[in-house]
Parts: sequence; C-alpha cells; structure tokens
Amino acid sequence: MTLTTAEYQALDHAHFLHPFTDHKRMHESGARIIERAEGVYLWDTDGHQLMDGMAGLWCVNVGYGRKDLAEVARKQIEQLPYYNSFFQTAHPPVIDLSTLLSEVTQDHLTHVFLTNSGSESNDTVVRMARYFWQCMGHPEKQVIISRRNAYHGSTIAGASLSGMQAMHEQGGLPIPDIVHIGQPFWYREGGDLTPEEFGKKVAGELEQKIEELGEHRVAAFIAEPIQGAGGVIVPPETYWPEISAICQRHQILLVADEVICGFGRTGEWFASDYYGLKPDLMPIAKGLSSGYLPIGGVMVSEHIARVIIEEGGEFTHGMTYAGHPAACAVAAANIRILRDEGIIDRVRTETGPYLQQRWAELADHPLVGEVRGLGFLGALEIVADKDTRAQFEPSGTTGPLCRDIAANLGLVMRAVGDSMIISPPLIMSKEEIDELVELAGKALDKTLDQVQA
Ligand SMILES: *Cc1c(COP(=O)(O)O)cnc(C)c1O
Repeated sequence: MTLTTAEYQALDHAHFLHPFTDHKRMHESGARIIERAEGVYLWDTDGHQLMDGMAGLWCVNVGYGRKDLAEVARKQIEQLPYYNSFFQTAHPPVIDLSTLLSEVTQDHLTHVFLTNSGSESNDTVVRMARYFWQCMGHPEKQVIISRRNAYHGSTIAGASLSGMQAMHEQGGLPIPDIVHIGQPFWYREGGDLTPEEFGKKVAGELEQKIEELGEHRVAAFIAEPIQGAGGVIVPPETYWPEISAICQRHQILLVADEVICGFGRTGEWFASDYYGLKPDLMPIAKGLSSGYLPIGGVMVSEHIARVIIEEGGEFTHGMTYAGHPAACAVAAANIRILRDEGIIDRVRTETGPYLQQRWAELADHPLVGEVRGLGFLGALEIVADKDTRAQFEPSGTTGPLCRDIAANLGLVMRAVGDSMIISPPLIMSKEEIDELVELAGKALDKTLDQVQA
C-alpha cells in the first residue's frame, strides 16, 4: 500500500487508536507517518529525514536496517514459525536464547521466563514474587513496593506498579497490595539537601514503608535503576547502596526493571552491573531484540528458580506467544551483535562518555536548568529561571513545544513535561553525536525565541 501522506493520515484518523496519544491534538496536524529507517535515521512519507534520538521507544539498540536480523527471522519462520513451550515442549531458539541470557547476565541469574513485552514481564514479576513466597510458606507476603513516577508498563499490573498519577486515575488503579514510595529526583524534589543527603533520605523511605507494612507482608521492591519514562532520572550516588543495604537487612526480593537500562544502554550490559545491584528478579524487553521483534522476559535468580522447579508444582502462568521461535532467534542474534561487534564496550569507553560530554555543554543554554545522563541516556530540564528552577507557565508545555520544534529540525527527542529526553541507538558515531547535540541546541534556541515572543 503506497498512499500520499494525507491519505494515510485520513485512514489513520478513521481507524487507528494510538497508544498514549491525545487524538484530538494529533488530528490537528495529522500523524507523522514513518516509512523506513537506516542506522540512526528515519524517513517519513514526505521524505523528511529525522535523526532518531530515542532509538524508537528506547529499544533499537543496534540501529535500524540490520539485514542479518531480517535473515535470521526469515529462516526461522521458514523452518518453524511457531511452537509453544507449554506442556513439556521446547524448541532450539528458545533454549539458545535462555542459555545466552544466562551468560550475559550476572552469574546468579540462571533462568529466564519469557514474555512478549516489558509490561507482561512485570505482570510476571508480580505473580512470580507472590508465588515464590507462597511456595516458601509465606502466603501473606503479597505487597510490592514501587515508587512514584516509576514506569513499569501499561497492563493492569504494570500500570499499578507504575507510579504515574494520570495512569492510576483511569480505572481505579493501583490494584491492591501495590504501594509507592518517593523517587530519587534530586533536581525537582531535593529541596535544600545535597544530592548525597537526598539520595539517602529517599532510599530510607523503603525501610520506613517495610516497617509500616510489616516485613511479613512485603514480597518485593521494584525499581528502574535509572527511571526512563519518568524523565531519565539518574539517582544520587548514595541511593542504590542504601537501597541494597535495606534489602539485605530485610527478607524481601529486589526487582531491577532493566527494560530500558539493559543491553548496553548505560555502557554496561545491565545497569545492575553498573550500580553493583544483585537483583532477585530482573525484567527485560526493549533492547533484548533491539525492537526487531516483540519479546520480553524476567531473569530469575537461582534461588527462586530452584523453589519454582522443586517446590512449586505447576506455575499457572504463561502467554501463547512467549518464547516465539522467530523472536527468540532474532533476540539471540541481536545479543551476539551487541557482544561480538563490541557495541556495548564502545558505549562504555568511547561514545558514551563523548555523548555525556557534548550533552553537558547544553547546560550553558539560557533555558537549561540541569543536564544529566549516563551512557546513552540523557535529559535536560527546561526552566524559566535557572536560580529558582521555576518552569514556564503553564508548566509541562515548553517541553512538548521544544520536541515539536526539534522534530521539524530533523531530530526526534522526547518531552516528559519540561524535561527533554534522549536515548539514541547504541551504534551512534561521534559525528552523529555532534549532529544530535547541534540539533538539540538549535531546538532550544528556537524554543527560547518562541517563549520570549
Ligand atoms: C517500556 C517499559 C516497560 C513496558 O514495556 P512494554 O514492552 O512497553 O510493555 C516496563 N518497564 C520499563 C522500565 C519500561 O521502560
């Protein structure tokens, strides 16, 4: 089907409901129809080239246009397009991927439960954590502690774990026994504390919450090592050591949601490696297949897997397409590309530090209150006043303005309120990083012109 942009937009309007979209606003200008991609660039149906500063939705880690991944998918579909792993069957790609995942993750993460998305992975976390404690003779350990402004997906459990008010308001969420503590967002919530003091204080809320609920009721604490959709919130250095210590003092599971942070995004295979975390459960998705096919999973530590295997009987959970042969084959090939082409090493030693150095230069811009980031994640805060950190009124509108300006200049950035976010493909070169920062700077200049006008 090849239509004009206007024809596509009219049919889109008539038939397609978009995720996380204000349709009325989108229809004022029409959806941008993305038609093809190569490397770090996208092209829309009007022929405009866009640099993809977001790697799709934080997922296209190896970049677009890998013909070898297409070939792996084609071959697998020809040989075995579908078979499940319910009821005592398996197939070579699911076994290969499971083995490979146990190799690239920490040694104690020996098993994987596969799903089709990050949301399903977090639904699995809720069910598996509660089931684990039930098998251990503690059925009352049901409560999962999460954080405000976390993002863990959009299914009922995923949205409940997420700490986003706008999501909870639509349909009576969170579900029972999911509670939220504060987030380590120093720039917006740290008050007069230093980042180090604030990191300790907000981590301490975990222990307070455990004591308030009673440890005998708490199953797990879940968190993104670096919050993604909440605004690329890099916690103060004191935060994770304090959380780890609290988890060690209490019999609760630590769940590191690595759906964004995993597969090289921070320059390590997983952000848990960077922060020295030892998660009991580790949801993964996005970079697992670089988005070439949908797949997710939960890495499971040996001690939990043992209990499920030996004590549990049947864990009554699973999705028809989980462990799909083609998705597994593509994910395995994607992991080998990340490993064998040295892509993650380059982000850690070379392009990640370079991106952070160039991105930090934007702090000099009159609109920018803070820049932050790690590896191939970055954020900047748009403010009206650098000293007071005040936002332009109405708050949360200048970010989307800057995002639209950037897109018209040829750069995809994301706005989270008045925070501008980047999460580029991990293959981005230094020259392309220069282009990204130049385009972001131009977008900020134009945004400044408009807010002053
Ligand atoms: C995107 C995301 C999810 C949800 O993944 P989907 O594949 O969109 O369901 C869960 N956790 C985190 C941290 C995410 O960024």
